[in-house]
This record gives sequence, C-alpha cells and structure tokens, in this order.
Amino acid sequence: MILKGFKELTQFLKKPRNIVIIGHKNPDGDAIGSTLGLKHYLDKKGHNCSVLVPNEYPDFLHWLPGSETIYRFDWQNNQSQKVISNSDIIFLLDFNALHRVGDDMQKTLEKYQNDFVLIDHHQQPDEFKYMFSDTEICSTSQMVYQFIEMNHDLDLINAPIATCLYTGIMTDTGSFRFRSTTSKTHRIIADLIDKGAENDRIHTNVYDVNTYNRLLLLGQALSNLKVIENYKTAFITLTNEEKNLYDYQKGDSEGVVNYALSLKGIIFAAIFIEDIEQNLIKISFRSKGSFSVNQFARNHFEGGGHDNAAGGKSTLSLDETISKFISLLPNYVSQLEISYEK
Ligand code: 5GP
Ligand code: MN
Repeated sequence: MILKGFKELTQFLKKPRNIVIIGHKNPDGDAIGSTLGLKHYLDKKGHNCSVLVPNEYPDFLHWLPGSETIYRFDWQNNQSQKVISNSDIIFLLDFNALHRVGDDMQKTLEKYQNDFVLIDHHQQPDEFKYMFSDTEICSTSQMVYQFIEMNHDLDLINAPIATCLYTGIMTDTGSFRFRSTTSKTHRIIADLIDKGAENDRIHTNVYDVNTYNRLLLLGQALSNLKVIENYKTAFITLTNEEKNLYDYQKGDSEGVVNYALSLKGIIFAAIFIEDIEQNLIKISFRSKGSFSVNQFARNHFEGGGHDNAAGGKSTLSLDETISKFISLLPNYVSQLEISYEK
C-alpha cells in the first residue's frame, strides 16, 4: 500500500477547488463508478468537479447518476481541454500510468502544470505527487469509499455516491466473487446499501440489459471456444466479420472471457478480439490462483493489469496472435500444471 501526501492533500482541499477526475481509456464499471462517486462526494464538499474519460463507455453504465455530465475527450475535446486548463488539481482513477488514457489525452496531461492525485489498485503505479495505491483492494470504487472514510466523511455518502461506488465494486469483483473480495468489501457494500444503493436495481441495470444481438454474439464466441487441456488453458476469438454480423457495440464482449475460465479445470483463459479501426487485436486475460496474467500480458502483449485479470494487445493478425499465444504456453508449463480446485 502506498499513501503519499495525504495530509498535504487534505490541507489543499480545505479551499473550494476546480477539480478534474479522469478514468482510463475504454472505461469500465469501476472507472465510471469511482470517478462519478468521487465527483459527487467532492462536489458535496464544495468543490467544482468535472469527470473526463478518453472515449466512449458501455450503454449499461449510462444510467449512473451524473453520467450525463461526463466529458468525452475524443468528442468534446475543446470543453475537455478547457476544464483541464482551468483545474487546480487532477485525480487519476483506476489506472496506474498516464499512457492508459491513450495518446491524445496523455499528451495533454503531460503538459499539465498542477499536481496529480492517483487513486488506483493496479500493480506498478507511476509516481505522482499524491498517491493512494493498493493492489490488494478489489476496486478503485472501494478505495474511494476508504478515501472518504479517511476524511471522516462517511456520513456524507448519499444515494448517488452509494450507487456509483456499489456499481464499481460489483463490476470489478464479478459480483463479489473474485479473490479480491474480502469481508471488508462486504461490510462496505452493506453500508452502501444502508446509504441508498438499491442493489437489485443496480444488478438489473448492469446485467439484464442485453440486446438480442449481444446474446447471439456470445453464442458465436462460445462456438469459437478452444481448449488446450495440457496447459489448463482455454481461449475465445472474435473476428471483425463476426462482430459486424451481430452489430457489435462497445461493451458487448465484456465478461465473455469468463466463460472460458468457467470450464472445469481451466486456470488460464483469454479472448482475442479483432479491432479493425485500431488495426490490432485486443486481448483480455484471466486466471485462477497463482498464475499471473499481469506478468504474462506485460511480457508478451504490451499490457498488464492484475494477477488474475489483465489486458494486452497485438499488432499481428488474429491467426498469428493465436499461434504466438499457443507457442508461449510451454514456457509456463510449471505454473499451468497447478490445479486451483481442491
Ligand atoms: P480487461 O481485460 O477487462 O480489458 O482488463 C482487465 C484488467 O487489466 C483491467 O483492470 C484493466 O484496467 C487492465 N488492463 C487492460 N488492458 C491493459 C493494458 O493494456 N495495460 C495495462 N497496464 N492494464 C490493462
Ligand atoms: Mn478497477
């Protein structure tokens, strides 16, 4: 755990400030939940906050309170640049290094003259003036709750804050099932429900909003599933053509990799998704137990993340990427032999 400059930051925030809060590229539930939760809290404290994200985020997060106030850096570039240059401080949430916001936004942030505050749970964070980094915590949204707690402000948590933080914790823990989910997480969740998070409504809003095409795409993905039993590995592919066939929308492939990991005996799963616009293959890795997909993604696919959930990319073709992936597995045989089930 790293907690750096907290007292000084508290002092700085005694005066009302113009604050920008930024989430990572391709924002997920935790990025949107934590940034909006923090915004609602800091606004309540008398600050003037703007949430900025690099690009679009899935429809199933648009119902979150405050979502309509988010600026997209790619679409609303002038407004985004303006709020950045008018800000006294920038909070960076749910990512560990500036390159995670994408090239354009990174260039803008590198020119920023004031200080950054990092609140994040990814491994190997870059250095910033103010930092709250803890890779043991399941989600940045839980860290925002703990940040509010450190400020002795838990009684300021209202329904919108509770709803945003609940959503971020729920999505980053796979609905409270991943290893990172602790008794403390459940205590925090209980408090968020007491403070107005309607848990059943949140689950429905996030998980029961499939389009017909999304389910058909899932069907396609599952029929592409391949298992490599020797290495307790399973992977899924989606070509651009398949995506087009089912009118692929942002977020449609979210969680699909978990089906590969749900196979009995499998401890390493991946999904490879062709992205014609960016001219690359976007990869998600998941594992059970001690095999670190963070390290695997860093070593071979220009990515990273957490021990059990990471992402990466490849500029090879889909077929070449798969061949590369398969050819790497023998190097990890000792780690992939270990069973996770009792
Ligand atoms: P996902 O597979 O859901 O896109 O990402 C899984 C986890 O890995 C998330 O916590 C995400 O922030 C992180 N991640 C995804 N892609 C990258 C990447 O290219 N670099 C790093 N450092 N982390 C990533
Ligand atoms: Mn997260």
